[in-house]
Amino acid sequence: MECIFCKIASGLMPAKIIYQDDTIIAFDDIYPCAPIHKLIIPLKHISTLNDLSLEDKALVGHIIYTAKHLASDLGIAEDGYRTLINCNRYGGQTVFHLHLHLMAGRQMQWPPG
Ligand code: 5GP
Ligand code: ZN
Repeated sequence: MECIFCKIASGLMPAKIIYQDDTIIAFDDIYPCAPIHKLIIPLKHISTLNDLSLEDKALVGHIIYTAKHLASDLGIAEDGYRTLINCNRYGGQTVFHLHLHLMAGRQMQWPPG
């Protein structure tokens, strides 16, 4: 198994896990870009947003819905937060296992770099 996020999902690699169920897992980003920086990933390997299939629609909805709940649990919902998914080279993707970033705790800028 080469994928680091598959290793985290299967427990082979440590991570600071904040949520997990039978289809997704959420954990701290190892190089946080904000005071709060979590990643929410599917347990099953999907390389990029381009690789989503019709059967993954509910899974993606579940990831986003979980971001909403984590934001509430983390106390960042009211001040606000940013969620994003990078895709491939121009999107800045570096880990090729689909993940939603959840970042908060500082003023985000727009447009992003
Ligand atoms: P991407 O650039 O692909 O959208 O984001 C990948 C994210 O994964 C980066 O923010 C990076 O800091 C994080 N990351 C890379 N390797 C690891 C790791 O081994 N553990 C954790 N928890 N996060 C990682
Ligand atoms: Zn993977």
